[in-house]
Amino acid sequence: MLKKISNPFQSCESEYNEAHVVIFSCPMDTTCSFRPGTRFAGPAIRTDSFGVEWYSPYLDMDLKDYNTCDTGDLDLPIGDVNACLNIIEQATEEILNDNKLPMMIGGEHLVSLGVFRAMVKKYPDLRIIHLDAHTDLRDEFFGMKLSHANVLRRAHDLIGDNRIFQFGIRSGSKEEFEWAKTHTHLQKFNLDGLDKVVEEIKDYPVYITIDLDVLDPAYFPGTGTPEPGGITYKELLNAINLFTRLNNVVGADIVELSPHYDASGASTAVACKTLREMILLLHKQH
Ligand code: MN
Ligand code: MN
Repeated sequence: MLKKISNPFQSCESEYNEAHVVIFSCPMDTTCSFRPGTRFAGPAIRTDSFGVEWYSPYLDMDLKDYNTCDTGDLDLPIGDVNACLNIIEQATEEILNDNKLPMMIGGEHLVSLGVFRAMVKKYPDLRIIHLDAHTDLRDEFFGMKLSHANVLRRAHDLIGDNRIFQFGIRSGSKEEFEWAKTHTHLQKFNLDGLDKVVEEIKDYPVYITIDLDVLDPAYFPGTGTPEPGGITYKELLNAINLFTRLNNVVGADIVELSPHYDASGASTAVACKTLREMILLLHKQH
Protein backbone atom coordinates (compact mmCIF):
# COMPACT_ATOMS: atom_id res chain seq x y z
CA MET A 1 0.00 0.00 0.00
CA LEU A 2 2.84 2.42 0.85
CA LYS A 3 4.70 3.63 -2.23
CA LYS A 4 7.51 6.02 -2.95
CA ILE A 5 6.53 9.50 -4.05
CA SER A 6 8.03 11.57 -6.87
CA ASN A 7 9.10 14.51 -4.65
CA PRO A 8 10.82 12.79 -1.70
CA PHE A 9 12.95 14.18 1.11
CA GLN A 10 16.48 14.86 -0.14
CA SER A 11 17.88 11.80 -1.94
CA CYS A 12 15.53 9.33 -0.21
CA GLU A 13 14.53 7.84 -3.52
CA SER A 14 14.56 4.09 -2.95
CA GLU A 15 11.63 1.91 -3.87
CA TYR A 16 9.62 0.68 -0.90
CA ASN A 17 10.73 -2.92 -1.37
CA GLU A 18 14.45 -2.16 -1.23
CA ALA A 19 14.29 0.38 1.62
CA HIS A 20 15.41 -0.26 5.20
CA VAL A 21 13.94 3.01 6.47
CA VAL A 22 10.54 4.32 5.40
CA ILE A 23 9.48 7.95 5.82
CA PHE A 24 5.85 8.98 6.05
CA SER A 25 4.14 12.14 7.26
CA CYS A 26 0.88 12.71 9.09
CA PRO A 27 -0.92 15.93 8.12
CA MET A 28 -3.10 16.25 11.21
CA ASP A 29 -3.41 19.20 13.61
CA THR A 30 -6.99 18.78 14.80
CA THR A 31 -6.37 18.81 18.56
CA CYS A 32 -3.76 21.58 18.78
CA SER A 33 -4.42 23.55 21.95
CA PHE A 34 -3.09 26.86 20.62
CA ARG A 35 -2.04 27.56 17.02
CA PRO A 36 -2.65 24.92 14.30
CA GLY A 37 -0.60 24.45 11.13
CA THR A 38 1.48 21.32 11.67
CA ARG A 39 -0.44 19.56 8.91
CA PHE A 40 1.77 21.46 6.47
CA ALA A 41 5.07 20.19 7.89
CA GLY A 42 5.61 17.19 5.60
CA PRO A 43 5.38 19.05 2.28
CA ALA A 44 7.40 22.01 3.69
CA ILE A 45 10.19 19.69 4.84
CA ARG A 46 10.31 17.89 1.49
CA THR A 47 10.43 21.15 -0.49
CA ASP A 48 13.12 22.76 1.66
CA SER A 49 15.18 19.55 1.88
CA PHE A 50 16.53 20.66 -1.49
CA GLY A 51 18.94 22.81 0.56
CA VAL A 52 20.15 19.99 2.82
CA GLU A 53 23.41 18.13 2.19
CA TRP A 54 23.19 14.35 1.85
CA TYR A 55 26.25 13.94 4.03
CA SER A 56 26.17 14.36 7.81
CA PRO A 57 29.53 15.46 9.22
CA TYR A 58 28.11 14.74 12.68
CA LEU A 59 27.50 11.04 12.09
CA ASP A 60 29.95 10.70 9.18
CA MET A 61 27.22 9.01 7.17
CA ASP A 62 25.70 9.87 3.80
CA LEU A 63 22.04 9.49 2.85
CA LYS A 64 23.21 8.37 -0.61
CA ASP A 65 24.77 5.24 0.87
CA TYR A 66 21.52 3.93 2.32
CA ASN A 67 18.14 2.83 1.03
CA THR A 68 15.39 5.11 2.28
CA CYS A 69 11.89 5.32 0.81
CA ASP A 70 9.75 8.42 1.29
CA THR A 71 6.06 7.56 1.01
CA GLY A 72 4.76 11.09 1.53
CA ASP A 73 1.74 12.34 3.43
CA LEU A 74 -0.72 9.71 4.58
CA ASP A 75 -4.24 10.31 3.31
CA LEU A 76 -5.87 11.40 6.58
CA PRO A 77 -9.51 12.43 7.06
CA ILE A 78 -8.91 15.75 8.81
CA GLY A 79 -11.20 16.17 11.82
CA ASP A 80 -11.76 12.47 12.48
CA VAL A 81 -9.08 11.82 15.08
CA ASN A 82 -9.83 8.14 15.60
CA ALA A 83 -9.84 7.40 11.88
CA CYS A 84 -6.54 9.30 11.47
CA LEU A 85 -4.91 7.33 14.30
CA ASN A 86 -6.11 4.04 12.80
CA ILE A 87 -4.58 4.90 9.43
CA ILE A 88 -1.29 5.90 11.09
CA GLU A 89 -1.28 2.65 13.09
CA GLN A 90 -1.91 0.59 9.94
CA ALA A 91 0.85 2.34 7.99
CA THR A 92 3.30 1.75 10.84
CA GLU A 93 2.22 -1.86 11.12
CA GLU A 94 2.82 -2.39 7.42
CA ILE A 95 6.35 -0.99 7.71
CA LEU A 96 7.11 -3.07 10.81
CA ASN A 97 5.69 -6.25 9.27
CA ASP A 98 7.98 -5.73 6.28
CA ASN A 99 10.93 -5.51 8.71
CA LYS A 100 11.64 -1.88 7.95
CA LEU A 101 12.04 1.04 10.32
CA PRO A 102 9.46 3.86 10.35
CA MET A 103 10.54 7.51 10.37
CA MET A 104 7.43 9.60 10.91
CA ILE A 105 6.96 13.33 10.39
CA GLY A 106 4.09 15.05 12.26
CA GLY A 107 1.65 16.63 12.45
CA GLU A 108 0.73 17.52 15.94
CA HIS A 109 2.16 15.23 18.61
CA LEU A 110 -0.98 13.10 18.94
CA VAL A 111 -0.10 11.39 15.63
CA SER A 112 2.67 9.55 17.50
CA LEU A 113 -0.01 7.57 19.33
CA GLY A 114 -0.90 5.72 16.12
CA VAL A 115 2.75 4.74 15.78
CA PHE A 116 3.03 3.74 19.47
CA ARG A 117 0.04 1.41 19.11
CA ALA A 118 1.69 -0.50 16.27
CA MET A 119 5.08 -0.45 17.99
CA VAL A 120 3.79 -2.00 21.21
CA LYS A 121 2.21 -4.88 19.30
CA LYS A 122 5.56 -5.79 17.76
CA TYR A 123 7.72 -4.80 20.75
CA PRO A 124 5.90 -5.43 24.07
CA ASP A 125 9.00 -4.34 26.02
CA LEU A 126 9.25 -1.02 24.17
CA ARG A 127 10.95 1.98 25.79
CA ILE A 128 10.18 5.52 24.66
CA ILE A 129 12.57 8.46 24.75
CA HIS A 130 10.59 11.70 24.62
CA LEU A 131 12.12 15.12 23.97
CA ASP A 132 9.63 17.96 24.42
CA ALA A 133 8.97 21.30 26.10
CA HIS A 134 5.69 19.85 27.37
CA THR A 135 4.85 17.02 29.71
CA ASP A 136 2.01 15.75 27.43
CA LEU A 137 0.81 13.72 30.44
CA ARG A 138 -2.69 15.08 31.10
CA ASP A 139 -5.26 12.34 31.48
CA GLU A 140 -7.86 14.62 29.92
CA PHE A 141 -7.58 17.93 28.13
CA PHE A 142 -10.82 19.92 27.74
CA GLY A 143 -12.50 16.60 28.49
CA MET A 144 -10.63 14.87 25.66
CA LYS A 145 -8.64 11.68 26.14
CA LEU A 146 -7.03 12.15 22.75
CA SER A 147 -5.12 15.40 22.32
CA HIS A 148 -1.56 16.46 21.68
CA ALA A 149 -1.47 17.48 25.36
CA ASN A 150 -1.87 13.88 26.54
CA VAL A 151 -0.13 11.73 23.94
CA LEU A 152 2.52 10.44 26.36
CA ARG A 153 -0.16 9.68 28.95
CA ARG A 154 -1.84 7.48 26.32
CA ALA A 155 1.56 5.90 25.64
CA HIS A 156 1.76 5.15 29.36
CA ASP A 157 -1.64 3.40 29.11
CA LEU A 158 0.05 1.10 26.59
CA ILE A 159 3.42 0.40 28.21
CA GLY A 160 3.09 1.28 31.90
CA ASP A 161 5.43 2.67 34.54
CA ASN A 162 9.08 3.61 34.18
CA ARG A 163 9.35 2.99 30.46
CA ILE A 164 8.94 6.57 29.24
CA PHE A 165 12.00 8.83 29.50
CA GLN A 166 11.22 12.53 29.14
CA PHE A 167 13.79 15.31 28.69
CA GLY A 168 13.75 19.07 28.24
CA ILE A 169 10.33 19.39 29.88
CA ARG A 170 9.45 22.89 31.10
CA SER A 171 5.69 23.26 30.73
CA GLY A 172 2.66 21.42 32.09
CA SER A 173 0.29 21.38 35.04
CA LYS A 174 1.48 20.83 38.62
CA GLU A 175 -0.51 17.57 38.61
CA GLU A 176 1.38 16.30 35.56
CA PHE A 177 4.77 16.95 37.14
CA GLU A 178 3.60 15.23 40.33
CA TRP A 179 2.20 12.27 38.41
CA ALA A 180 5.44 11.89 36.48
CA LYS A 181 7.39 11.34 39.72
CA THR A 182 5.99 7.84 40.11
CA HIS A 183 5.20 6.88 36.52
CA THR A 184 7.85 8.19 34.11
CA HIS A 185 11.42 9.42 34.18
CA LEU A 186 11.07 13.19 33.73
CA GLN A 187 14.06 15.49 33.40
CA LYS A 188 13.08 19.13 33.72
CA PHE A 189 14.54 21.90 31.54
CA ASN A 190 17.50 20.09 29.94
CA LEU A 191 18.99 16.80 28.77
CA ASP A 192 20.97 16.02 31.93
CA GLY A 193 21.14 12.29 32.58
CA LEU A 194 20.29 11.27 29.03
CA ASP A 195 23.63 9.44 28.77
CA LYS A 196 22.75 7.33 31.83
CA VAL A 197 19.29 6.51 30.49
CA VAL A 198 20.77 5.49 27.14
CA GLU A 199 23.18 3.18 28.92
CA GLU A 200 20.36 1.71 31.01
CA ILE A 201 17.98 0.93 28.15
CA LYS A 202 20.41 0.34 25.28
CA ASP A 203 19.48 -3.31 24.78
CA TYR A 204 15.70 -2.72 24.75
CA PRO A 205 13.73 -1.75 21.67
CA VAL A 206 13.66 2.05 21.86
CA TYR A 207 11.37 4.46 20.04
CA ILE A 208 12.40 8.12 19.94
CA THR A 209 9.76 10.84 19.72
CA ILE A 210 11.08 14.37 19.23
CA ASP A 211 8.63 17.21 19.72
CA LEU A 212 10.73 19.92 18.11
CA ASP A 213 9.40 22.52 20.54
CA VAL A 214 11.92 21.06 22.99
CA LEU A 215 14.21 23.52 21.21
CA ASP A 216 14.21 27.11 22.39
CA PRO A 217 11.97 29.32 20.23
CA ALA A 218 15.16 31.24 19.35
CA TYR A 219 16.15 28.17 17.29
CA PHE A 220 12.69 26.93 16.46
CA PRO A 221 9.92 29.55 16.43
CA GLY A 222 7.90 27.69 13.80
CA THR A 223 5.67 25.75 16.14
CA GLY A 224 2.18 26.03 17.61
CA THR A 225 3.06 26.21 21.29
CA PRO A 226 6.48 27.86 21.66
CA GLU A 227 8.05 27.65 25.13
CA PRO A 228 11.02 29.84 26.09
CA GLY A 229 13.83 28.27 28.08
CA GLY A 230 14.54 25.41 25.69
CA ILE A 231 17.61 23.54 24.55
CA THR A 232 19.95 24.65 21.78
CA TYR A 233 20.27 22.91 18.44
CA LYS A 234 23.75 21.74 19.40
CA GLU A 235 22.31 20.07 22.48
CA LEU A 236 19.81 18.26 20.27
CA LEU A 237 22.65 17.09 18.00
CA ASN A 238 24.53 15.84 21.06
CA ALA A 239 21.42 13.88 22.06
CA ILE A 240 21.24 12.26 18.62
CA ASN A 241 24.91 11.41 18.94
CA LEU A 242 24.14 9.72 22.27
CA PHE A 243 21.34 7.76 20.60
CA THR A 244 23.97 6.03 18.42
CA ARG A 245 24.90 4.07 21.57
CA LEU A 246 21.47 2.43 21.58
CA ASN A 247 21.57 -1.06 20.09
CA ASN A 248 17.95 -1.32 18.99
CA VAL A 249 16.26 1.90 17.86
CA VAL A 250 13.03 0.63 16.28
CA GLY A 251 11.61 3.89 14.94
CA ALA A 252 11.43 7.63 15.45
CA ASP A 253 9.44 10.74 14.76
CA ILE A 254 9.78 14.50 14.64
CA VAL A 255 6.58 16.43 15.29
CA GLU A 256 5.07 19.90 15.78
CA LEU A 257 6.78 21.87 13.01
CA SER A 258 4.28 24.50 11.93
CA PRO A 259 6.14 26.01 9.01
CA HIS A 260 4.03 29.10 8.43
CA TYR A 261 4.89 30.62 11.81
CA ASP A 262 8.48 31.10 10.72
CA ALA A 263 8.60 33.03 7.48
CA SER A 264 12.42 32.95 7.53
CA GLY A 265 12.34 29.19 6.85
CA ALA A 266 14.88 28.57 9.61
CA SER A 267 12.53 26.30 11.60
CA THR A 268 11.90 24.15 8.53
CA ALA A 269 15.67 23.96 7.99
CA VAL A 270 16.05 22.79 11.60
CA ALA A 271 13.43 20.10 10.99
CA CYS A 272 15.11 19.01 7.73
CA LYS A 273 18.49 18.65 9.35
CA THR A 274 17.08 16.83 12.36
CA LEU A 275 15.28 14.47 10.00
CA ARG A 276 18.50 13.74 8.10
CA GLU A 277 20.28 12.87 11.34
CA MET A 278 17.41 10.67 12.52
CA ILE A 279 17.18 8.79 9.21
CA LEU A 280 20.91 8.08 9.41
CA LEU A 281 20.56 7.04 13.06
CA LEU A 282 17.94 4.49 12.01
CA HIS A 283 20.22 3.17 9.26
CA LYS A 284 22.91 2.59 11.88
CA GLN A 285 20.63 -0.15 13.27
CA HIS A 286 21.24 -2.39 10.25
MN1 MN B 1 4.46 17.21 22.60
MN1 MN C 1 5.56 20.29 22.94
